[in-house]
Amino acid sequence: MPTAERSIIHVDMDAFYASVEQLDRPELRGLPVIVAGLGRRGVVSTCSYEARRYGVRSAMPTAQARRLCPDGVYLSPRADRYEEVSAEVFAVFEGITPQIEGLSLDEAFLDVTASLRLLGGVEAIGRGIKQDIRDRTGLTASVGIGPNKWLAKLASELSKPDGLLRIRADEAPARLSPLPIGRLWTVGKVTEQALHRLGIRTIGELAACDPARLTRALGRQATLLQALARGEDERAVEPVRAEQSIGAEHTFDEDVVRLDMAEAWLLRQCERVAERARARGLAGHTVTVKLREPPFVTHTRQARLGAPSASAADIYDVARRLLNVWWQTQPTPRLRLLGVSLSGFDRRPQEDMFASAPMAAATDQVQDRINLRFGTGSLVRAGSLRTRGRG
Ligand SMILES: [Mg+2]
Repeated sequence: MPTAERSIIHVDMDAFYASVEQLDRPELRGLPVIVAGLGRRGVVSTCSYEARRYGVRSAMPTAQARRLCPDGVYLSPRADRYEEVSAEVFAVFEGITPQIEGLSLDEAFLDVTASLRLLGGVEAIGRGIKQDIRDRTGLTASVGIGPNKWLAKLASELSKPDGLLRIRADEAPARLSPLPIGRLWTVGKVTEQALHRLGIRTIGELAACDPARLTRALGRQATLLQALARGEDERAVEPVRAEQSIGAEHTFDEDVVRLDMAEAWLLRQCERVAERARARGLAGHTVTVKLREPPFVTHTRQARLGAPSASAADIYDVARRLLNVWWQTQPTPRLRLLGVSLSGFDRRPQEDMFASAPMAAATDQVQDRINLRFGTGSLVRAGSLRTRGRG
């Protein structure tokens, strides 16, 4: 039997939206394909590897992408189609284990520790997942394997595209130490700059730093960061996380002083939140916008949706209004951070929301299987999400 060491797999589809477009329209294969908001304030959702060669990246304003890659193929996202393919991908995961934590439509953690004996080794499971996804969807995924979530996710990132990489606990220090600290989970621009000021540029230097010195500079965060730098991460894979809220936020490299730019970023965050909510079969009725003025003055503004939703358009509609009201009341509006979250998940999504996509059904199945295995008592908070099903 395996020891106490866990076997975690992180699966991430390669350039998911763009790959689906290239799958459905073979004439686009080999071309730079950019799936993006096409309006004046649009932001890039996903781009193909061909487009990345021009410097195009996710979350970049579409206008900037067009300057870098004027001959690219620019397409609006087709959410229904991506959800359909996503359901196929998650069906592959369900064949392996009920211990699935979906992060978005195309990305999930699987804890396969309990499946090893039955399914024959973690690398064989990883190869099988890649093959099954290819057979069912015609698309490639990258698979990372590790003793915890952080190393599994890093492994899939390092292996992209179409990769498979395992990082064992004893290999972690050698793998991690040359990487820039920006690669470390939870390290954003602000923390990165603080670490640079201490002369720390690599994960290895972070691991070796005197803990007292690090704590003086970073506070309580220091202990967590050093554990991650050593390759340690205790977080569990949480199959149906009964979340209080699903949020996304962005810290700007340069403060945003234009409302149209702020709105473009807000839309991108709303898309991420909606995608994550849908991946978990959740719909929320409260939208909160988080606005931080430099350096650290944070405001939040909250409003309710007319009906629970997991639609980016619905969330953005409310979030944008909140942003505009705040903006107009500031003498010199200036944002360092902008975020949005969805909360109030007190019932299941409306059936018609998923009428064209089997995603909700897939999520139901996972939850039902978990209930079968562990009894409904293990899902107390998630249970409140199920009440509508009884009516
Ligand atoms: Mg992906």
